[in-house]
Amino acid sequence: MHEDRPAFGQRLAEPGVIEFRPEPLDALVERRLKMVWEARSCPNCGADSLQALDGSDRIWCGRCHWKTTYTRGTPFYDSELTPGEFLIAFVLYADTLLSITQIAALLSPCYKTFHDQIRGVETAFCRGFLTVWERISQTVDGPTQVDETQQVCSGFKRQEPPRESLDRGGSPEGGRTRWTGEQGDEVTLVAACRDVLRVVSAQEGSDYEEDLAPVIEDADDLPQELGEVWTDGLPAYQGMDYDHQYVVHDDGYVSDQGVHTNQAECLWSLVQPWLAKFRGLSKQGLEQAARTYGFLRSLNLTGAPIHSLVDCIAVNAFR
Ligand SMILES: [Zn+2]
Repeated sequence: MHEDRPAFGQRLAEPGVIEFRPEPLDALVERRLKMVWEARSCPNCGADSLQALDGSDRIWCGRCHWKTTYTRGTPFYDSELTPGEFLIAFVLYADTLLSITQIAALLSPCYKTFHDQIRGVETAFCRGFLTVWERISQTVDGPTQVDETQQVCSGFKRQEPPRESLDRGGSPEGGRTRWTGEQGDEVTLVAACRDVLRVVSAQEGSDYEEDLAPVIEDADDLPQELGEVWTDGLPAYQGMDYDHQYVVHDDGYVSDQGVHTNQAECLWSLVQPWLAKFRGLSKQGLEQAARTYGFLRSLNLTGAPIHSLVDCIAVNAFR
């Protein structure tokens, strides 16, 4: 068995093999962000007189002459990476099985802060998703399927944690976001799937007797009502005290195969190999990563345009 040998796909991710041309995406991000600036009022004088200057990064108030750059307040601001490279990095991170180290090697020979930047984009994406989702999809319909799966935090089982994370030296793979929780801490991921919408939450412990409250609270933030909740009919979910809008079907509605939760089960079959690329995450890291995957999957399932990613990442900068 030589399962540790790199696959062809991984070898393509070695430095210098693949080169990106981020310019079209740079232009897309610039157009998108400038459009948003022009639609808002001046944060200094309140006038509707902000202009994006062509051929320049400048945003300019025609009344009070306040000025800024179009990336201000977004994760794109003041980064070693161009906005297009940032977008490529985020898509490779969130939508492929490439590790952050591999992506960093593809995009930037000097990636001291790359890991933190990706996490920053991810945080912004998760925060902005709900706002953007409200704009792009109003057609979510049908019952909400809920299912759970167990994950182990910082899963360096029978394995030394990476050296960098011990000395917290700030190396790209090391430290802060890895190896924080206790090794072997268990977390239960709970997914709520409705139509094309995927919301993933995490609860501590492998014991989800608690309830579905966290995922339902999350889903309450969504512009659409959850509708009926379908679960796989495990005893833990039965006899729970839901608001009247949430109905857990009794066994009469549940098939033996649990067909009704197949959206959630399909999601897990995609999330689990994706989470495996981190080779261990803290509870917070795990929760955020799984949440990211759910939201990105929702965008993919709706066929959302790529600029909706830009919107998710940047929307909160303009509030
Ligand atoms: Zn002004």
